[in-house]
Amino acid sequence: MADAVVVGSGPNGLAAAVLMARAGLTVEVYEAADTIGGGCRTAEITLPGFRHDLCAGAHPMAVASPFLRAFDLPAHGVELLVPQVSYAHPLDGGRAGLAWRDLSATVDGLGRDGAAWRRLFGPMVRNWEDVVGLIMSDLRPPPIRPGGLLHTEIGVARRLLEQASPLWNLRFREDIAPALLTGVAAHAIRPPRGIPGAGVGLLLGTLAHVGGWPVPRGGSQAIVDALAADLRAHGGRIHTGHRVDDIDEFDSVTAVLLDLAPAELQRIAGDRLPGRYTRALENFRYGGAACKVDFALSGPVPWRGLGCERAGTLHLVGSRAEAEAAEKTVAAGQHAERPYVLAIQPGVVDDTRAPAGQHTLYTYAHVPNGSKRDVSAEIIAQVERFAPGFRDLILATHVRTAARMPAHNANYIGGDISAGAVTLRQTVFRPVPRWNPYRTPLPGVYLCSSATPPGPGVHGMNGYFAARHALRREFGHRADPLALLAGS
Ligand SMILES: Cc1cc2nc3c(=O)[nH]c(=O)nc-3n(C[C@H](O)[C@H](O)[C@H](O)COP(=O)(O)OP(=O)(O)OC[C@H]3O[C@@H](n4cnc5c(N)ncnc54)[C@H](O)[C@@H]3O)c2cc1C
Repeated sequence: MADAVVVGSGPNGLAAAVLMARAGLTVEVYEAADTIGGGCRTAEITLPGFRHDLCAGAHPMAVASPFLRAFDLPAHGVELLVPQVSYAHPLDGGRAGLAWRDLSATVDGLGRDGAAWRRLFGPMVRNWEDVVGLIMSDLRPPPIRPGGLLHTEIGVARRLLEQASPLWNLRFREDIAPALLTGVAAHAIRPPRGIPGAGVGLLLGTLAHVGGWPVPRGGSQAIVDALAADLRAHGGRIHTGHRVDDIDEFDSVTAVLLDLAPAELQRIAGDRLPGRYTRALENFRYGGAACKVDFALSGPVPWRGLGCERAGTLHLVGSRAEAEAAEKTVAAGQHAERPYVLAIQPGVVDDTRAPAGQHTLYTYAHVPNGSKRDVSAEIIAQVERFAPGFRDLILATHVRTAARMPAHNANYIGGDISAGAVTLRQTVFRPVPRWNPYRTPLPGVYLCSSATPPGPGVHGMNGYFAARHALRREFGHRADPLALLAGS
């Protein structure tokens, strides 16, 4: 029997597995799907030769993550291609806000709001490692830390409170900059005026001007393939097509790390979990969801807004007020008539995704949890609104409704792509109010999925924190396991 077992081969499961294998343990990974990677897979789902990212498509967090930086993706053959424009936000009338990787270019393009953008993001960009250290942490730092970090904490808190308050428009004089910021905040699939949305907006907005929002050459699969190759090189084994239904399967294993949503932990552990913990898990809420629609196109999207053709990612919803209204509608359990649509056009930097001259377009729209509705018509209307003629380029379409998302990955309950709503409470108490959210009450059993801090995204940090606890407690390995990646 292995020393350690990981259930689920998403980026967090593989991160945990890599660290434990490098610590000299025998590690086995069990994955329900026939392919590895969870929310980081790529496949041909429309036409031959068109490669689509099935879930995660853009990777600002992968380039910033302390775990993945230490792992060093480029050294493992992953080519992270960085669009000049991290994200764009087209508005009616052919106008568009552009978040260039270069902060000064962004400021120059935002007219009278340029200075306000620089005041908002300049200090965060300068101190980006502290910002990442704060937001991509296990959120259990001592209250006051010495030196620059305290300064960063105050700066982040001040901006968070501002963008979560009714005063969120005060620093802006025009409509493009606030719309641009709201497009990023809405990644949280929450009404953007709130602490979680503001936090997501500030983190991803900062990273846009640091490492950018890259896409891996060939697709997101490259990231998990690199982790899996490293795991195998250190003796680990991965079993695909193996859905774990009962945790007793690993009775004699010292450490079991679960890359699972809390509902899946309950399903496989059943009444072995103490009642108090089960009740706490039952209070965990699943949130807004996504209906994913992928397109094979005969050519590039004909955006009206100048600069949108250089953007890797685009937020299609219109003004800040429209974004807020659409997200409030979804939070109230209804479908927005003109939903928030996130689009990624990897072909801007990666010519391997489609046959020569042709393109893929990745989109998803925010919908209520559990929605069975195919919203491809609404998505096409939002793209067409900012890129007239788009409809004529469509060669093929693939739709995955929110309700069908769990069949693809059991972690996405009702189509919640964050494996748990990103509310203020569930940011800190994720999934339950415990000082150590990774440890479960079952001996040797840990949660390592995005249902733990610091939450969703392809960064591997949840896996790293869970592995650090398991290595220390179960195997007496006291050193920081990031050191195990040195010289990798
Ligand atoms: C549509 C969509 C778009 C996204 N876009 C982005 C993006 O652009 N950028 C970004 O950074 N993040 C994005 N994300 C979020 C990101 O994909 C996830 O946060 C990340 O994959 C979480 O990693 P994880 O390892 O915690 O879990 P997952 O990647 O969800 O992996 C969990 C794995 O566990 C397996 N599993 C579940 N139950 C069992 C079982 N009982 N037995 C065995 N195996 C099991 C699943 O099959 C899956 O492979 C997106 C997610 C979705 C769904």
